[in-house]
Amino acid sequence: MTFVVAYQCTICHKVFSPDARYTCDECGEDGILDVIYDYEAMKTVVTKTYFKTQTRQDIFRYLPLMSVDATHIDKTLRVGMTPLYKAHHLEQKFNIDALYIKDEGVNPSASLKDRASVVAVLKALEYDHQTIACSSTGNAASSLAAHAARLGLKSVIFVPKRAPFGKLRQMIAYGARVLQVDGDYKAAYRLSKAAIDKYGWYNRNAAINPHMVEGKKTVAYELYEDLGYSVPDWVVVSVGDGCTIAGLYKGFYDLKMLGLINTVPKLLGVQSTGCNPFVTSFQTGHPLKETEEDTLADSIAVGKPRNPVKGMNAVHASNGAFIEVSDQAILASMRLLGKTEGLFGEPAGVTSLAGLIEALSNNIIKQTDTVVLLMTGNGLKDPKNAEKALGKPTIIPEAMDKLNNVLDESEDTDE
Ligand SMILES: *Cc1c(COP(=O)(O)O)cnc(C)c1O
Ligand SMILES: [Zn+2]
Repeated sequence: MTFVVAYQCTICHKVFSPDARYTCDECGEDGILDVIYDYEAMKTVVTKTYFKTQTRQDIFRYLPLMSVDATHIDKTLRVGMTPLYKAHHLEQKFNIDALYIKDEGVNPSASLKDRASVVAVLKALEYDHQTIACSSTGNAASSLAAHAARLGLKSVIFVPKRAPFGKLRQMIAYGARVLQVDGDYKAAYRLSKAAIDKYGWYNRNAAINPHMVEGKKTVAYELYEDLGYSVPDWVVVSVGDGCTIAGLYKGFYDLKMLGLINTVPKLLGVQSTGCNPFVTSFQTGHPLKETEEDTLADSIAVGKPRNPVKGMNAVHASNGAFIEVSDQAILASMRLLGKTEGLFGEPAGVTSLAGLIEALSNNIIKQTDTVVLLMTGNGLKDPKNAEKALGKPTIIPEAMDKLNNVLDESEDTDE
């Protein structure tokens, strides 16, 4: 039993019954559905005391706020309850009063995508599918493969040619059928859609499946709990398809509808200058226009975002903003985050830090604001770009005199 009462099209607002599957029949593929809950009924269960008394150490502690039933939740990999760190060194460096980083890289497949994928496989079981499929820049796919394996489902995955080394190895390790399309994410997406239509697999594609946002939103509930049942002024996150930022918004929106918080935090969506459809649309007020996918941050190399309405609404409704940062700034953030806070993120994972730095210099975020950065994925997923950002180790022979020379040059001694 859930508190879901309907689905509603984000474009034409047509309402569908709770057994609807994917998109609006009138608006087609763009008619992304939003899951609608009965908040008055939910309120009788989900109170502040509810949060305080939960003992489950995964996202299913929030089950009454979600759109899945409980049947198989005890068989899943453990998703969520990721740490929120106070970033003491970065607070000092940027003279910010309160800065936190939520490390989503500790999820089972090492990215925030696990919050959605675990819901996807539960839904596939609910609907009696044996196979689940998606296209992905890399993380949604490696995550789906892991959760499908865990629950005994087959997974079929379409990735672009450029999917990073680590992510590809993950998918194969989890036993997925991995199809690397000779093209970009747009091409992988199109082929996956045609294949899903033909073979009838359960569809985990971003945005198309309305339950993915309902999984991702749990990150907002965790922030609410982590911050002592309050919310920050800003949450900063990188944006590709727009589902993650939409999930953040939905989670905070739920809390507001339940009377647990007064305002939704401002959401800052960050994109790369080489792939910035949301930023351009935000600045010009025009509808989103397809762009190139020219960024090394593969997880946000999304030229045609699949969740434009929910993604844009998250920023507008929260009084937030979209900004862009260069790939150079992303690589610099990877170095900075590692050496100041001991956190290693993939390029799209550290893009939030680059966004914060940009937003501070533009006065969008103030030093007196309480800020949370989402580090959405672990750095080990993409060793090639990590090397680009971080360089290589020093190679030396086993000889103290050589070592002395090297250390003297770099002044790397404790004296
Ligand atoms: C998917 C992803 C994002 C962006 O999420 P969207 O829903 O595509 O906007 C950011 N960072 C990482 C690491 C991701 O895997
Ligand atoms: Zn519609």
